[in-house]
Amino acid sequence: MLLAITASISTLVSSFYSTYQVQKEQLTAYTLKSNYAYANKLASATDNFLESAMQQLAYSAKKIEQRVDDENLLNQEATRLHLQTNSFNSVVINKHSVVVATSPKFPQLIGESIHSPGAVQALQEKRPLISAPYMSAAGNFIVFISHPLFDQSGDYLGYIGGSLYLKERNILNSLLEQHYYEGGTYIYVVDASRRILYHPDQALIGTVVTNNSITNNMITGQSGTSIVKNSQEIEMLAGFSSVPKAKWVIVAQRPVRATLSSLDLLITEVIKRTLPMAVITFLLIGFFAHLISRPLKQLADKANTLDDPTSIEELKSVKSWYFESQRLKIAMLNGVNTLQMQIGQLRHDAQTDPLTDTHNRRSLNQLMFKQTPFAILEIDIDFFKRVNDTFGHDKGDEALKSLTDIIKKLSRKDDIVARIGGEEFVLVLPNENSQSALKIAERLRKTVESTNMETIGFITISIGIATWPEHSNDMDQVYKCADKALYHAKEHGRNQCIVAD
Ligand code: GH3
Ligand code: MG
Ligand code: MG
Repeated sequence: MLLAITASISTLVSSFYSTYQVQKEQLTAYTLKSNYAYANKLASATDNFLESAMQQLAYSAKKIEQRVDDENLLNQEATRLHLQTNSFNSVVINKHSVVVATSPKFPQLIGESIHSPGAVQALQEKRPLISAPYMSAAGNFIVFISHPLFDQSGDYLGYIGGSLYLKERNILNSLLEQHYYEGGTYIYVVDASRRILYHPDQALIGTVVTNNSITNNMITGQSGTSIVKNSQEIEMLAGFSSVPKAKWVIVAQRPVRATLSSLDLLITEVIKRTLPMAVITFLLIGFFAHLISRPLKQLADKANTLDDPTSIEELKSVKSWYFESQRLKIAMLNGVNTLQMQIGQLRHDAQTDPLTDTHNRRSLNQLMFKQTPFAILEIDIDFFKRVNDTFGHDKGDEALKSLTDIIKKLSRKDDIVARIGGEEFVLVLPNENSQSALKIAERLRKTVESTNMETIGFITISIGIATWPEHSNDMDQVYKCADKALYHAKEHGRNQCIVAD
């Protein structure tokens, strides 16, 4: 039972464990994959947005390059770019290094030169640009997107540029906000120098990530998945994808713990549903273990009482329902049979005279019954020594057998014939008194006397007779009386029967 229960418990535990592991791996892989897919989608949407923002600037640049002195046109274009779509939080047109138009209107800036990193970079590089994020003079954390202006002869005139205020509403952050915050998933955006451009926690925008939560793979423009720790040392399943236009990285991540919390519920549920079946299994194991051990226990119990005469019947009644117990039972039955046969044989041998196959003295003592009166005839062959001397011991034995045959022939069913010494016999006659016993003794004596035995011829016997309880209540005394009577018979000439005094 222990073996079976241990085996099933370890199977259960290992299957729970492997289920947990497999599910955990699948969930992790799935979460990483979906975070990656989501980051990828947002990255391409962001890239598209930047592309379209640059196209808008390029289109406007084309338009105003022809009439760069038309102040109205410049203002109109600045306003249109600012207001027609939500692409930019502000728009500025710069000609010959000074501001010529803005939207919204900043009259104080007209005619001034701007020294913000975005403006300086635009003037220096004279090409379409997306700046690195920086803090503007007005205190906005911005990204500056610009397009150069050239006159017909190809001389550089200045630029038209739009700002994205990273902490205020614009297309970019409404795009990034539109996502499911399910199960702790959130996204953030960093640039190549690990500066945060977008984060659900506004306070972090503009800060530089210094820990390991951004891997080198992320900022080298690759896309993929990674398991990282965020700034609060919480393990995260991150999917990331780069925005090629601006060399930004969009990261979508979800805490490992939140991802796996559903797994704990799942496993608890699995255990709950498995439990009843497990209990049933354990009960069945107990039941079958009992069925298996029962015949063994019963056989073992019986083995302790094999000397009991009823043991064979009890062994047979054991329900040995399977092969091994059946073999054990058969072996035990065979053993008990042999044992009892041998015991029977031994008992028979111990109580039987081997020569004449009559009772011996020991058996006689056991057989003596005191319930009914009985007579004892003690029989002794006369001059038997001579028989032996004359014809040999073997012929003497033959004579003993012949005499036994005669005694047996003349005795009744309930009489007991026993050989108690060399050539001395006892005949116990139940329900006979001295007189009737004497008659029977006489008949026996005469029969012996007149029987011609092979080789040795004729022999005679003397018989002493005593009865119970007439002569004595004590068995030994009755024997002694019969003995004495026999002695008298011998004394008085042999070949006669004498009843004890
Ligand atoms: P009696 O009884 O008339 O006085 O004379 P006896 O010669 O028979 O004397 P006793 O009874 O004392 O002798 C017993 C003899 O019986 C001795 C022995 O030679 C013989 N005898 C005893 N047991 C056996 C036996 O098992 N086989 C044979 N063949 N002879 C035996
Ligand atoms: Mg004798
Ligand atoms: Mg004798």
